[in-house]
Amino acid sequence: MVPTREIYWNIDHHTLLYAVFAFALAIFSYGMYRRARLWFSGQKEETFGQISRRLLFTLRNVVSHRGILRETRPGIIHALMFFGFTALFIGTCLVAIQVHLGWPILYGNFYLYYSLSLDVFGALFVGGILLAAVRRYLFEQKFLRNTRDDAVILGLLFSILLTGFMVEGARIAVTSPPWSEYSPVGYIFSKLLVAALSKSQGTQTCTAAAISTLHRTIWWIHMMLAMGFIAYIPYSKLLHLFTAPLNIFLHSTRPKGALKPLALEDVEAKTLETRVFGVLSPKDFTWKQLLDVDACMRCGRCDSQCPATLAEKPLKPQKIILDIRSQMEADTQGRLPGGKISDAEIWACTTCRACVEHCPVNIEHLQKIIDLRRGPGLMEGKYPAEITRAIKNIQFQKNPYGLGNEQREDWMQGLDIKRLSASDGAILFWVGCAGAFDNRNRQTTRAFVRLLKEMKIDFCVLGREEMCCGDPLRRVGNEMDFQQLVKQNIAVFKKYNVKDIVTCCPHCFNTLKNEYPQFRGNFNVLHHTELISKNGNRIKDLLNKKTRATLSDKTITYHDPCYLGRHNDVYEGPRELLCLLPDTELREMERSRDRSFCCGGGGGHMWMEQRLGKNINEMRTDQALETGADIIATACPYCLTMLSNALKAKDREDVKVLDIVEVLAGG
Ligand code: SF4
Ligand code: SF4
Repeated sequence: MVPTREIYWNIDHHTLLYAVFAFALAIFSYGMYRRARLWFSGQKEETFGQISRRLLFTLRNVVSHRGILRETRPGIIHALMFFGFTALFIGTCLVAIQVHLGWPILYGNFYLYYSLSLDVFGALFVGGILLAAVRRYLFEQKFLRNTRDDAVILGLLFSILLTGFMVEGARIAVTSPPWSEYSPVGYIFSKLLVAALSKSQGTQTCTAAAISTLHRTIWWIHMMLAMGFIAYIPYSKLLHLFTAPLNIFLHSTRPKGALKPLALEDVEAKTLETRVFGVLSPKDFTWKQLLDVDACMRCGRCDSQCPATLAEKPLKPQKIILDIRSQMEADTQGRLPGGKISDAEIWACTTCRACVEHCPVNIEHLQKIIDLRRGPGLMEGKYPAEITRAIKNIQFQKNPYGLGNEQREDWMQGLDIKRLSASDGAILFWVGCAGAFDNRNRQTTRAFVRLLKEMKIDFCVLGREEMCCGDPLRRVGNEMDFQQLVKQNIAVFKKYNVKDIVTCCPHCFNTLKNEYPQFRGNFNVLHHTELISKNGNRIKDLLNKKTRATLSDKTITYHDPCYLGRHNDVYEGPRELLCLLPDTELREMERSRDRSFCCGGGGGHMWMEQRLGKNINEMRTDQALETGADIIATACPYCLTMLSNALKAKDREDVKVLDIVEVLAGG
């Protein structure tokens, strides 16, 4: 006897089933059409090439569950549900193929493995649903929102699986196939059903007819629930079954740290009057950005990593995404910045990128927040007062500090430093505004220059010809001035035939490296930690002589600057440099590398007062102090300033904040 099972055993009226299926499919299709119509109310998007690479990326992400499993417990729960769902879906497709194409698939050993796998995956799926319910409803989840939709979905899935196992159990109870152990869960259900029916009928045995009737009833309930599930997808969080993989497939291929450029030139005359630069309402986003918001599955991971949320400021990245979604549903022309989304939310973002990094479905919160700054800024000239001042400083003095450009060379006093000339093949040391104007950061600049000289690296500077790199302008949404400045800087670089650039500032590093190529400014840009690492042997010799005495027995903790770490994936180089130090101990903070907590200085916040919630720099400093370190090492002028200010506020100036070059120079 060949192992198999009769499909549609005990079931008549298949036509009714197909009619219900067609109805469910129609509701599903209408829902998907409505979503797609909303997405395409947005603007044009860049074209999406590299199809096979994207497919591979999506498959790898979905199958490995890499992003989801970053958070272990919820990740495992999702994996149980996802793989359970996938296995049952494939199983159902095989049945459909056999019935409608007449291919003999479910026979012999294949049938036995099929039957066993579906039962095992079904059981794991039920386990996942129960764990998800326990997690949601029995343990308080700070960043997880519970809505009616969540309860409906969990209830629906559980009922579908339960009735599925009951149907299988009833069939096994009546047909008693010799291979019923290959359906272990169905087999247990068959025993339970027989026992329950016998008890209710007050007899030792129950009739096959009674079980058959029950089977037929539950089968129809099971099918109606499954059809309800299909119809419900586009109207619920289940939509992410489609939008999440699609969003991963359409992920941006820009470097992580690069914001999308606005096309400010060559705008067609006919669209000029209606054209919005940046975003004022959902229709100003591109269709891909609108699809993006529909991929959100409300997992709350973005909120759990956002320094502004954790500091109790008005911003929650998940809310931004859901607000854009609900405004898109209500009216694609409705006002977002200053309307559905408050200015306080938009301006609380430090552009640290923690939300994007941790979103398992590649949603780009940061680009949207910048677009929401661009809209009011470019169209209405609306910026917070401190930001307006910083912008004016850059416009007139070419630096956000508002100091006269003649002071740009003050830090060089007493140091013999070459100015760049066209014939020079030396590496350009891009000092950056913080390194040139801020007193504390000038010490870092001088320490780096001394190190460059000791390592015998040929370098030169632009001196007064250097201007702001444009990062602050772009992060506050002033794309117009940003692009002008970038073009001016590129012209200077080209005049001097610049090829290699090194800088101590991760903000300059990110902009020069990742954003200048958008304007045909392609240079080989290194952060100072990368240049030093490249010359590891030379620095090792210097360290042995210099640092032993001053840093002996010191404990160091390293704070990852957001624009070096999450924006550029530079995590290990700085740590390897610190590990070169003799007789010192490197202690990690609980939040480090891609989970590092922002210092609070990015996205224009170097020039803004922290008025709402807790101070982010003080929170980060507390995390550093918890390690008991004597030195907080970092590699960014903003972080240096923010953390130093926090130590001062906490009266903990016994702990030093130093740039890595200062640490290497012996503190
Ligand atoms: S970029 Fe950082 S501060 Fe801004 S929303 Fe994301 S996590 Fe929050
Ligand atoms: S935006 Fe991403 S991380 Fe945030 S709740 Fe939605 S899916 Fe989760």
